[in-house]
Amino acid sequence: MAVDAADPLLYPCPAFAGLRPALADLGDEVACAVRPQGLPGPRLRLCSADAARLLGWPKPGDDRAREQWAQVFSGNQAAAAHPALCTVYAGHQFGNWAGQLGDGRAHLLGEARGLDPAQAMGHRWWEVQLKGAGLTPYSRHGDGRAVLRSSLREFLCSEAMWHLGVPTTRALCLVDSDLAVRRERLETAAVVTRLCPSFLRFGHFEHFSHSGRHDALRRLVDHAVERLYPQCAEQANPALALLREVVSATATLVARWQCLGFVHGVLNTDNMALIGWTIDYGPFGFLDAFDPAYTPNTTDVGGRYAWGRQPAIAHWNLLALAHALLPLIDDRDAALEVVDGFGDAFEAAMAEGMRAKLGLGPQQDGDVDLLRAWFDLLRACGADWTLAHRLLAAVVADANAPPPQRWLQLFDPWPQRLQHWLQALRQRLQPLSAQERQRRAQAMSRANPCYVPRHHLLQQAIEGAGLGDFSIAQRLHQVWRNPCEEQPGCEDLAAAPPPGSPPPVLSCSS
Ligand code: AMP
Ligand code: MG
Repeated sequence: MAVDAADPLLYPCPAFAGLRPALADLGDEVACAVRPQGLPGPRLRLCSADAARLLGWPKPGDDRAREQWAQVFSGNQAAAAHPALCTVYAGHQFGNWAGQLGDGRAHLLGEARGLDPAQAMGHRWWEVQLKGAGLTPYSRHGDGRAVLRSSLREFLCSEAMWHLGVPTTRALCLVDSDLAVRRERLETAAVVTRLCPSFLRFGHFEHFSHSGRHDALRRLVDHAVERLYPQCAEQANPALALLREVVSATATLVARWQCLGFVHGVLNTDNMALIGWTIDYGPFGFLDAFDPAYTPNTTDVGGRYAWGRQPAIAHWNLLALAHALLPLIDDRDAALEVVDGFGDAFEAAMAEGMRAKLGLGPQQDGDVDLLRAWFDLLRACGADWTLAHRLLAAVVADANAPPPQRWLQLFDPWPQRLQHWLQALRQRLQPLSAQERQRRAQAMSRANPCYVPRHHLLQQAIEGAGLGDFSIAQRLHQVWRNPCEEQPGCEDLAAAPPPGSPPPVLSCSS
């Protein structure tokens, strides 16, 4: 069915149909026009009303509207007013220079003005991007496709992350098809439509810097300043000011990841967004039993991107960005100093996040030791990260009551060590009134989610979807909209994986 972009009734997003992405002004060198290949027989399977609302778009209500969305967000009907755009970038992958990469399977459809900048961390625009709509000039050896399994993971996890308070690309909808795609085995194709104020990656800047195209680098930096960090425009050295903002946003982001137990899995510089939001959900994972060395990515044999290494890797990636920006910053020492600010910024954000998780309130002497002992305890016991924090609120709420049995069980068989830590915590909280303890416990319940996108739950959704049943995915999508509120009948979604389950691992193939 052909969709007429000029007809506001037929086109699901009339405002967006006419909006040419600002990136198009940067020239072919940065972003070239490409028509998506689209998908045969596209089916709209999942749609995020929350994400649609950001743009002021209603969720498609009837079959006709669903068919229209399927056609548009499969890439079958690229906006008529302008073609889709694909950008070129480069990157460091696993610590090595990988050279030119680019949008190998991502098409920028256009951009839309957000209804409320407060819903976008102050940003006014949302770029609308398809992932998996076919070949591009940057597909290299790839097929331009994304499989249903990985698209479903990205849709569900990115929306959940937003509700968990993590800056992240959003997922508008997921469209699938019977089109066969070969990975380790034969699978089927899908397209996720992502939203982000900007899909610029560190790798975009690396590409133009390392190939010596400094005019394009400058245009890109000017665009990023104007769009993402306007406060830098008036600074004496805007590129340096930009770097400082990215360092700060990245430190906050990684602290959120660490506090949640999120492991990105492939923290290459081409998977780091300049805006400081989470981007590119591949072999990600959440900590179940706490192990700082946990990485969900089977390709990452050395554990470069393990949970415990994410802060150091983010710092490394920021150095790569600084290096790329040097032709414009023109002051090596100043750039280094700015990047070295990452350590303190991350430590401060992490300490604040962990104090909130433990109900510690304002910083005090001894907090570092208390936190270190907590990490040691979790690690020694392999306690479940999410549950150990979630159930801790009950310990803080009442100084005299014994800790809940469900919480104690997580630390089996280390009661002695646990007693020591509990004693230290109780001492720390001892001056608090009963009322203040209750208040802290309530705040802890907002800092410690009970529902996170655990691997085994995503697997259930994938298995259902593979049989054409998206009800599990829809349930997860719905419950993860309120991750800190216990929801009746959802105990199964709060539980740790069955005992004895090995830590989940995934290949990079998607
Ligand atoms: P990733 O590991 O998903 O971050 O991808 C690294 C690079 O490979 C990016 O430039 C992607 O656009 C590209 N890429 C990944 N998968 C495909 C695919 N199936 N077809 C074309 N390009 C791809
Ligand atoms: Mg990527």
